Amino acid sequence: MSLMSPQVNNSGAAEYLDVLNAMARRAAAWSGPIVVIGHVDPDGAALGSCLALARALKALGKQVTVPLEPPRYLTFLAEPGELSPALTSLPANCLLFVLDVSDKSRAFGAPLTGAAAIFNIDHHGTNDRFGDLAVVEPGKAACAVLVKEFIDALPVAWTTAMATPCLTGILTDTGNFRHGNTNREALSAAGELLEHGVDYAELTDRLQWRHPSYFKLLGKVMDTVRFDLDGELVSATLTEQMRVSTGADADDSDDFVGLIRYAEGTKVAALLKQRGAEVKISVRSRGGASAQQICLELGGGGHMAAAGATVEGDLEQAHAALLAATKRELARD
Ligand code: 5GP
Ligand code: MN
Repeated sequence: MSLMSPQVNNSGAAEYLDVLNAMARRAAAWSGPIVVIGHVDPDGAALGSCLALARALKALGKQVTVPLEPPRYLTFLAEPGELSPALTSLPANCLLFVLDVSDKSRAFGAPLTGAAAIFNIDHHGTNDRFGDLAVVEPGKAACAVLVKEFIDALPVAWTTAMATPCLTGILTDTGNFRHGNTNREALSAAGELLEHGVDYAELTDRLQWRHPSYFKLLGKVMDTVRFDLDGELVSATLTEQMRVSTGADADDSDDFVGLIRYAEGTKVAALLKQRGAEVKISVRSRGGASAQQICLELGGGGHMAAAGATVEGDLEQAHAALLAATKRELARD
């Protein structure tokens, strides 16, 4: 089946539940293997969504593979052996779930060809609803909110092991219920998940734990903080040299941009991470400024207030491109 011509266009608000229910019915009846993947550079939202869904499907007796390589600080969420390396091909008669993937090129863990069926569940507005069944709801605070609704639709009893990663997904995408996407639905979903035995204090504490080298790296990155555009853009850089000299895992720096975004007077915050001949840029914004617009211009994407892009070149070139795109966005604002 063509990835380019989705059979279901669920643009209506209530309609998505029909599609989600249809997915749940087909998944519950599926006799072949099931593979669950998320996006490249998995965060707590991608990992949490995938783990919750996989555990629910396993509880139904399904054979489930989750090819996902999480950053070190999130590995505690998975059981030993629960995750597998990326697959180069899909098993025969396989149902492939693609979660939290804003566009096909960002899928990671398995090829999108060779599946008997692809189910796409996401909350990014840029998702073109690829797959045989697609639920794409940009109004949802987190993909994990949709995963919760999906599990609710399965003939399975919730367990703490399903609820904990699901809540992690919601916590991650709402910035622990601080971002503008936090809504009643996300809070209610979290409340329901708590009833399944999640130890909230332990989870939120554990999610902040970082390897000691993280703090050494943080010091070096914070030393690079600079302000441009009359103080409205704050940015910092992370070089490979910093990573090597501190022994830190680059993925452990995922939240650095979330720290500098609190610099007073700023509208846009960016972290530029050197990766070989490329630079990964993570952008956050507030007020009327759109991180998404800035990143679309840089060839990436994401949400209004949190987006990212990978650009070719060195850090200086990447910063120049970021500066130009941010200047245009702030002028529009
Ligand atoms: P982060 O900066 O934390 O990597 O990503 C922030 C948001 O932007 C996430 O929703 C992520 O999926 C999205 N994002 C990050 N990088 C890219 C990219 O290169 N392309 C697209 N389309 N989305 C991205
Ligand atoms: Mn994500």
